[in-house]
Amino acid sequence: MEEYDVAIVGAGPAGLTAGIYAGREGLKAVILEKAVKGGMANAAPLVLNFPGFKSITGLELLKRVGDHASGYVEIKESEEIQKVEKEDGIFELITNKGQYNAKTIIIATGTNYRELGIPGEQKFIGKGISYCSICDGMFFRNKNVVVVGGGNSAAEHVLYLDDIGCNVKMIHRRDELRAQKYLQNKIKEKGIPVIWNSVVREIKGDNFVKSVVIYDRVRDVEEELDVNGVFIAIGEKPSSELAGEMGVEIDGGYIVTDKNQKTNVPHVYAAGDVTGGLKQIVVACSEGAVAAVSAYNDLKLED
Ligand code: NAP
Repeated sequence: MEEYDVAIVGAGPAGLTAGIYAGREGLKAVILEKAVKGGMANAAPLVLNFPGFKSITGLELLKRVGDHASGYVEIKESEEIQKVEKEDGIFELITNKGQYNAKTIIIATGTNYRELGIPGEQKFIGKGISYCSICDGMFFRNKNVVVVGGGNSAAEHVLYLDDIGCNVKMIHRRDELRAQKYLQNKIKEKGIPVIWNSVVREIKGDNFVKSVVIYDRVRDVEEELDVNGVFIAIGEKPSSELAGEMGVEIDGGYIVTDKNQKTNVPHVYAAGDVTGGLKQIVVACSEGAVAAVSAYNDLKLED
């Protein structure tokens, strides 16, 4: 069985950058990704704050990072880890396809979309409900859509959907957005309507979404709005189950690390959104770099 110096779990910005740095340090590395390269960052309609790029889609940016990483590290897609065991100081990562042995592990498993948990949501996923405007927005050109949420993701979805010609409204549960001021100003400038102080209580339809039931928390009234599409962007939940099973310390769902991205478990590091903090692509990349160099330093010390 081939043995790696480092197995990186997750091929988002953190995992891919960890791969670049591990490869450049001369470590034999592999990235195991349960889906496809890029992770959640692929879904960013436009990235306007990654240094060196004034404006680039998440998909294009992550394609570039993925291509770059491929020169340094093996990247295995559709490879989901089922369990991790430790035998004679070596981690054994058992996936749906096989087994990988490694001296160290970098966990860069990111986050997942949060769901509203309301009637109709599960029924209409893919039938009018989406969590990704760049993936599905084009189906709703010239149609009525709502975006639920008030953070950066919701704001970016709203602006993108408006740009591609959807008739879009935003629904937010408070009277001010959490999104960055730059995005808020853009929404105002474009005159995109925001339905304030309101929550969606139900999504209705037949084969496809037809309306949402909205409750105005201030006026204490419930109204039904006809829509063809609902984009949900109400935050993320960290994908830290694997780390938890390995005995890694978790706080509020996020992996706890020190400034060298080390966890409480020797030879296990974590990087990117799964560690919480400022969720930005640039931060995930830097944490990935630090994690890989930490792994290298620890292995070098033991040589
Ligand atoms: P977020 O910042 O956590 O915002 C979630 C939004 O959804 C909040 O406005 C929240 O309302 C609302 N919300 C939460 N639960 C809800 C519910 N059950 N019903 C209705 N509304 C609900 O999540 P995000 O926008 O997905 O962003 C995730 C992270 O990625 C953030 O750290 C964000 O800054 C980062 N990010 C950054 C960029 C960028 O820099 N351009 C782009 C995308 C994401 P309240 O405001 O009332 O809490």
